[in-house]
Amino acid sequence: MLYVLFSLLNGEISQDEYLKANNTVILKKELPRRIYGFIFFYKDYYYIVINKFISYYKQKKTILHELAHMELRHLDKKTLLEFKIEGLEDEADEYVKHLLENLN
Ligand SMILES: [Zn+2]
Repeated sequence: MLYVLFSLLNGEISQDEYLKANNTVILKKELPRRIYGFIFFYKDYYYIVINKFISYYKQKKTILHELAHMELRHLDKKTLLEFKIEGLEDEADEYVKHLLENLN
């Protein structure tokens, strides 16, 4: 089985399985209100930091957003840190939208 975001979205694998297979750790921290979360790569692990003050729904969406950056390999270039900030859309949002549209 492929551990890709599409498999997670259509329920073939759980979030925990996905995270484990991709060496990814999720941390919930106090962040400024408009920063939903960010991702960085450090010593073979991806760390996704989520703002613990945003709603559960926004947390889920932000995790998906950061996983999309991971899957699109945006962090393999020299981008060491990628933020999800309120109101800003980027390629990761487009990717998640595209996956959701193709679920069924
Ligand atoms: Zn982004």
